[in-house]
Formats: sequence, structure tokens, C-alpha cells
Amino acid sequence: MRVLVVEDERRLAVALRRGLETEGFRVDVAHDGLEGLRLADQQAYDVIVLDIMLPGLDGYRVCARLRAAGSQAGILMLTAKDGEWDEAEALDTGADDFLSKPFSFLVLVARLRALGRRIGRGRPSVLVLGDLVIDSDARTCSRAGVPTHLTAREFDILEHLALRAGAVVSKREILDQVWDVGDGDPNVVEVHVSALRRKIDTPFGRSSVQTMRGAGYRLAADGG
Ligand code: CA
Repeated sequence: MRVLVVEDERRLAVALRRGLETEGFRVDVAHDGLEGLRLADQQAYDVIVLDIMLPGLDGYRVCARLRAAGSQAGILMLTAKDGEWDEAEALDTGADDFLSKPFSFLVLVARLRALGRRIGRGRPSVLVLGDLVIDSDARTCSRAGVPTHLTAREFDILEHLALRAGAVVSKREILDQVWDVGDGDPNVVEVHVSALRRKIDTPFGRSSVQTMRGAGYRLAADGG
């Protein structure tokens, strides 16, 4: 599960990153609201831990903007006890859950897992892009009713591109998502994307997996 922590208290942010990574989450940290929005725009997170009191853009505004931009991430807001900030307001702006500071790390982890499961259930397991059908549960894919046989890597890449259909996805993001390493070789992505094209596009006269020069790839939503 991929988590974004938006928290300006450096020590807390560091502790959260370490703790959540130990629990098996993949964690990115932003130290202010705008950086949080930027990261959330580049990367699909399952869950976002969002502090309310942030420099620049506060957590309420970050949350509202994320929702306005169509973010499906589960959002857990960190509220300060006895502060002027209201939990009801957190939920009003589109947050899914909140936790008052100071909080127990174990409770945070339990809440994040619960949120991740809830969000995951709401996500369709079958993605349909034109005549391209991707079944995330069965891990199968077909084009125009013809089953294609993808390797595990090819499937993961396709699934990630499909979840972000229409958006430009960088090789770095694909490496992060599919290989689980921060510093892999982008050329490896190229090789797998070429193989993917030869299976889902070329035989069908399509070019749905588009190369965006210098930026990455985009799966055309219309499949054409
Ligand atoms: Ca703060």
C-alpha cells in the first residue's frame, strides 16, 4: 500500500516514515501542502495522511483540492486536540477519517489499513478501456475479446497505466510501482513496454500505449 504523509513537523514526519515502512507501507513525505498536492498529482496513493496545520496551504484546502481533482485516495486527517480545528470540518472537506494528535502509532496503522481496504473495495477490479479489458483480480487481459498472455511485469505495467488512463506516467513512476526499487534502470521499463505493445497493440493495429517524449507513457483512454 502506498502512503503519502503530509506533515510539517520534521521529527514526526521522519518517525512516521520509518514506522510505516517497517509495517510494509511504501511511504513518501511532503512537508507542506503544495508539495503534498504536487506529489499526489504525480503518483496514485492509496492513502494520504494529512496534517491540518501546514505552512502555505492548510490540510483542509489540500483535501478539498485533492477531491476537486478527482483523487480517490483514502484521506486521514491529523487534527490537534483542543485546537480551533474541527473534526466535522475535516470530514466536510472530503476526508475519510481523522485522528487527534497525539495519537498512538498502532492506532494509526490500524486505521490506515482499514482505510486502504475500504478504498480498495471501491475500486473496480475490471478496467475497461475501449475494447481493452483488464481484470485485476484474475490478472488477465483481452483485446477485442481475444485473450492476451502477459508476463507478470507486463501485466503490472498495463494495470498501472490503465489506473492512470489518459495521464502521462513517467518511467520512474513505473519503476517505483512495478519493481519496488527507487533506483532501477529506466531502459528496463522500455523493454517491457515494447513487449506489451507487441501483445496488446500491434496485432490489433492499435497504438494505445503512447510514448510521450522525455516524459513517459500514456495509455489512451479510447484504446485507439
Ligand atoms: Ca503541523
